Amino acid sequence: MKADIHPEYSETTIKCACGNVLEASSTKSDIRVEICSKCHPFFTGKQKLVDTAGRIERFRKKYEKFQKK
Ligand SMILES: [Zn+2]
Repeated sequence: MKADIHPEYSETTIKCACGNVLEASSTKSDIRVEICSKCHPFFTGKQKLVDTAGRIERFRKKYEKFQKK
């Protein structure tokens, strides 16, 4: 196998500020990020949950009315 044909892809660890470590293949040997899929609000769903909580609350109120009938 000729070694100089392919770029040097190697197993890389991406370290996030939250402490999460991701495994990836990259030409870079060490990557540091401030936000990753684990701590980003978009991926954690925290923002979503807040939004959904309001909807659930409204639904429950409707449902309570329905049950009292
Ligand atoms: Zn993170």
